[in-house]
Amino acid sequence: MNTKGGGAMPRKSSNRRTAKPTNSRAAGPPSRRAAETSRRVLHILARLKLAYPDARCALLHRDAYQLIVATILSAQCTDARVNMVTPAFFTRYPDAGRLARAKQRDVEALIQSTGFFRNKARNLIAMAQAVVADHRGEIPRTMAELHALPGVGRKTANVVLGNAFGINEGITVDTHVTRLAGLLRLTRHGDPVKIERDLMALIPRDDWTLVSHLLILHGRQVCIARRPRCDDCVIRAWCPSARPVGSTSD
Ligand code: SF4
Repeated sequence: MNTKGGGAMPRKSSNRRTAKPTNSRAAGPPSRRAAETSRRVLHILARLKLAYPDARCALLHRDAYQLIVATILSAQCTDARVNMVTPAFFTRYPDAGRLARAKQRDVEALIQSTGFFRNKARNLIAMAQAVVADHRGEIPRTMAELHALPGVGRKTANVVLGNAFGINEGITVDTHVTRLAGLLRLTRHGDPVKIERDLMALIPRDDWTLVSHLLILHGRQVCIARRPRCDDCVIRAWCPSARPVGSTSD
């Protein structure tokens, strides 16, 4: 359940000592620190939900096939660029069956502007062939089956499961999520798998898909790399990395 927000004060807590906002590393024994971090995460989530009520997957898609293609194309590429490429791609290859029979050079020509187009074309065709051969042309709905497809890692599988099927199986960890999870001290790791594990332990499962969208939007709009706008940040009261007031104003 979302909390209703507004203002800079933290919401009420049954334990006022541990519900204080913090701009410094939490003190105390590990169990107490973990409990405090869990509470802090709930406040952060509530604030971000209020700030970004329309947060959703930025890759345009109509079904799981379109989303898995768009997500493969989004590696080392902006979502905006992918969204420029996919309409023509889906007109030419509307389903896995058509893509499975595509010629490498034809796919390359359509996706060239997304970068790494030879590898991406190879993976897209191989992915589609595996979907046709092993899943009757339908994108599978489990992490194990998705992860077994060529060119599909855990990140892509999480995107598809969460956004196309509404299945909260994990948390998508991209560069924004990695950076914000570190700044918010929700993890001490840099490896995406370990970051995901730490976030999954802190964040309610119902929010696993949404939290990635929230952190990505916040990372793009406010907590910008190298110039975070801490003065304008709705979660600054809960961020151990917040810069001094006035130091990030334009
Ligand atoms: S903008 Fe500043 S206060 Fe907000 S999350 Fe980033 S570092 Fe923390």
